[in-house]
Amino acid sequence: MCEFTAKQGDLDLRFSPAPSSLEGITGHDAVRAGRPSHYQAEVTLSGEFKQLLIRGRADGFDPVQNLVEEIKTFRGDLRALPDNHRYLHWAQIKIYGWLLCQKLGLSEIRLALVYFDIVTKTETTLIELHDANLLKQYFENKCEHFLSWAKQELAHRAQRDQALTSLGFPHPSFRPGQRQLAEAVYRTAYSGRCLIAQAPTGIGKTMGTLFPLLKACPRQKLDKIFFLTAKTSGRKLALSALALIKKHEPELPIRVLELTARDKACEHPDKACHGNSCPLAKGFYDRLPRARNAALAIGNEHTDVLDRDMLRTVAIQHQVCPYYLTQDLIRWCDVIVGDYNHYFDLNAVLYGLMIVNDWRAGVLTDEAHNLLDRARKMYSADLSQISFRIAHRSAPPTLKKVLDHLHRRWNELPKEQVAAYHVYPGLPHKFLEALQQAISAITDYLTEYPALSNQDLLRFYFDALHFSRLSELFAEHSMFDVNKVTNPARARSKNTGTNTRLCLRNIIPGPFLKDRFTAAWSTVLFSATLTPMNYYKDMLGLPEDVSWIDVPSPFQGEQLKIRVASDISTRYRHRERSVAPIVDLISDQYSRKPANYLAFFSSFDYLRKVMLSFREKHPEIPIWEQTPGMEELEQQEFLARFKPMGCGIGFAVLGGAFAEAIDLPGSRLTGAFIATLGLPQVNLVNEQMRERINSVYGAGYNYTYLFPGVQKVVQAAGRVIRTPSDRGIIYLIDDRFSRPEVLRLLPRWWKLPFASQA
Ligand code: SF4
Repeated sequence: MCEFTAKQGDLDLRFSPAPSSLEGITGHDAVRAGRPSHYQAEVTLSGEFKQLLIRGRADGFDPVQNLVEEIKTFRGDLRALPDNHRYLHWAQIKIYGWLLCQKLGLSEIRLALVYFDIVTKTETTLIELHDANLLKQYFENKCEHFLSWAKQELAHRAQRDQALTSLGFPHPSFRPGQRQLAEAVYRTAYSGRCLIAQAPTGIGKTMGTLFPLLKACPRQKLDKIFFLTAKTSGRKLALSALALIKKHEPELPIRVLELTARDKACEHPDKACHGNSCPLAKGFYDRLPRARNAALAIGNEHTDVLDRDMLRTVAIQHQVCPYYLTQDLIRWCDVIVGDYNHYFDLNAVLYGLMIVNDWRAGVLTDEAHNLLDRARKMYSADLSQISFRIAHRSAPPTLKKVLDHLHRRWNELPKEQVAAYHVYPGLPHKFLEALQQAISAITDYLTEYPALSNQDLLRFYFDALHFSRLSELFAEHSMFDVNKVTNPARARSKNTGTNTRLCLRNIIPGPFLKDRFTAAWSTVLFSATLTPMNYYKDMLGLPEDVSWIDVPSPFQGEQLKIRVASDISTRYRHRERSVAPIVDLISDQYSRKPANYLAFFSSFDYLRKVMLSFREKHPEIPIWEQTPGMEELEQQEFLARFKPMGCGIGFAVLGGAFAEAIDLPGSRLTGAFIATLGLPQVNLVNEQMRERINSVYGAGYNYTYLFPGVQKVVQAAGRVIRTPSDRGIIYLIDDRFSRPEVLRLLPRWWKLPFASQA
């Protein structure tokens, strides 16, 4: 209540290293240790106002001095404490003050804010004497303010749930397979469980998952739905589906919010997030209530969703930061559409708020086959010695000693290491100790100089914090490896020619994600490629009782011809000699049926080899090529070449931007050539991963190479048939495509040119 009603002034996110929870507890204990024996610690208080029951715990009360205390720990300069925090602290102690006056029948009370510096161990105390009647007025004022908001929110919830109960499907009928998916999602929400749903492209998965979960909200008392995607395109699809639902049901006051990354939402990327720098941070809390009301009024409208553009418009109108307005709105919106990071990351905002507020949330994870790789990145950390050297050189003299020490420890690490890459059996404890000392020293320095603009040092500092945090969570799910890069010229001249990259590499993110699945009321992971289930269950840490549904495809085997070029090997050692037959195969198909095709390869290098040879032999056939790091506009141009009734061949890499989540229906795409089994490269890192996974699950090769590889092939092949009227052809180019263990992983509706699919 205090947070909602009392924050005023600027948004201020200047670097202020907050004490850890342990430091906070120790600080509170230190303050209380100096209090007299009659001092009462942790005084539980409560009071009522109309329908509100207010409860809280004051840090301490001294009955002799008639003084109630609120203790706050901090480090650094107390004058740098943002004003909005100060207002909040005073609001809190005033509420406790009144509750104590009421409880003990006092006519006045002394209120004390005790700021305890956890570094110098000193107290700064601000004391004010307050009249009980004025405190009562203050209390009632805050309660009234909160109550009117709470009533509005309760009314919204009742209206929302009533409208959801009678919500109808926004299309005339379900598509084939869509109803089956929707029923499975509803059952999952009903039982509060987790579901893996493999459902083919084209059945309307976004609507088929959102609609039943919305329907489940009233009965299951769901506070929120989180729709999480791997890519912006998935977010847009979800927002369109929700806009359609709202349009279809004019009385449905459901609030839909899109989350955007800060760098994309920021209006002043050249400024810092505090009132002295950014005009949208200045007076942010003073203008937030109006901006919030305006946004929610739009959110309640039947046609509008609070997407990035809409939020920007509201924010600019009310002169508040769009990013932090969005963060505030999470609390008040019903459906939040965001990225995987927003829920699965180590410091994910949606997960954090859900735990703190005890929300009951239904989670939908779109294109969930991407979650494994994304989660591995979230829970991995690396430190580059080159970046460290740069930060070291530019660091202020006070940090020199501690960074020198870290440098020495760092250099000791690979001393015994002969190979360029090595996985260590355990963590480098001496190095981590030195790293921790460096972090503490930089933290203290930043506390003293919060406006430090040394980007090299700051970058290293944040990398080091992440590395250190993950080292504390290190276990069998991850490995510690060192990559040694030696510069021979420097090695000869100065003996400092070795740079290393240290990596805490997550292999199995399951142990990290497990809690996310158990904390949600229900979770649905859906995609066209989630085979085999155990692979995802093991690697993502899904609950034992996770259920599984494989929705049959709405497409017929007759729609898609499959050809397996089993006389070609695309293995690395056979690449050169595979080029000519692949070129012939593509040109033969093209001359039989000139149309639009996509040809997929395992790497840009392989792609280029085949493409150059193709161009030389068939200059008359239009071709276009994916290049590394294509910008969004270039990607759009690539896709625009696939015109209806057009002719030509787009060369692309498997697993890249054109191998999934693109839609080229009808004659825009007639066929695909997949010249690779998609297996990740056999290299030192992957081999170590294979060994580690093997030791945990005994399926090292399949989990490291085969399953991720074939999953990419099926995703790419899925670009060809998009509607029940499409016809197309797929060439699977590699002899291994005829092996039973591969065939078993291909979609069941494909008619393979073998007697029976294994
Ligand atoms: S607009 Fe940008 S700089 Fe300003 S407060 Fe928002 S995120 Fe920070």
